[in-house]
Amino acid sequence: MDEITLKALAKINLGLDVIRRREDGYHEVSMVMQTIHLYDRLEIAKSHEPGIHIRSNLNFLPVNENNLVYKAGKLLMDEFGITDGVDVNLEKRIPVAAGMAGGSTDAASMLYGMNRIFDLGLSRRQLMERGVQIGADVPYCIMAKTALSEGIGEVLTEVAPLPDCFVVVAKPTISVSTKMVYENLHANELQHHPDVVGMVDALKQGDLSGVASRMENVLETVTTKLYPQIEEIKQTMKESGAENAIMSGSGPTVFGLYTEKATAEQAAEKIRQQYGLSEVYVTQPC
Ligand code: ATP
Repeated sequence: MDEITLKALAKINLGLDVIRRREDGYHEVSMVMQTIHLYDRLEIAKSHEPGIHIRSNLNFLPVNENNLVYKAGKLLMDEFGITDGVDVNLEKRIPVAAGMAGGSTDAASMLYGMNRIFDLGLSRRQLMERGVQIGADVPYCIMAKTALSEGIGEVLTEVAPLPDCFVVVAKPTISVSTKMVYENLHANELQHHPDVVGMVDALKQGDLSGVASRMENVLETVTTKLYPQIEEIKQTMKESGAENAIMSGSGPTVFGLYTEKATAEQAAEKIRQQYGLSEVYVTQPC
């Protein structure tokens, strides 16, 4: 096999709790992660020209060593002494810098694809071990589905899948830095923590409203003060029939869960018009 085409799936956080800030500055988290059918497409092909060559449909995205796809490719090339080159055509559809692990999932796909086309024989677990060297979310992106993520994000446990539903994803045009959000979070003073254990239990019961009622993201304590539009979009989603709506990751993307496709599509259209947003999608968990 000389080439492979992969879908790199985005994630949302059904719940996001920060347990504490450790002495070393890292944050201990407890998050419920869910992949959705919103994806980037990666075409990965062996090439006789040495090195990693990335093309992307987004001209503002780095295509050099700052791209996580490059980092993933380089990691395996160095470890396995690969001398052939690799060409990657990266078609981005996941909103960038949005709290949806766009870069991490591309890196995860690159690890998976390189393993296949160069026949490296690495297991999923071994790919996950390499992924964590690129970013805390990469192992989860290799695992995908529904998972509880603990520690600093690297301790993963598969949990029962999210019951069938429709997900409206809306990316406001503001940019939010993940670093800034964590720096402004007073993790050790949080008065309230999401019921992550209850959510995992509701997933096990296949209880969508039990999951929805426990959707919370403590990072909103930072972002909604700075960017009121995040809260406004959440409210619009709830008023438009969402079971619940919260921010994903460190934002600014907001998502809502809907039981009916038509209601989700109407809500998406309303949000596009009301907030003048182009990155609004109706999708499903997977
Ligand atoms: P997370 O949910 O893990 O915090 P994110 O959605 O906030 O991720 P990304 O879309 O991964 O953020 O991008 C963050 C930054 O990483 C961007 O500003 C971009 O320049 C850089 N980057 C490097 N490689 C990629 C890639 N393949 N796709 C998107 N961004 C990338």
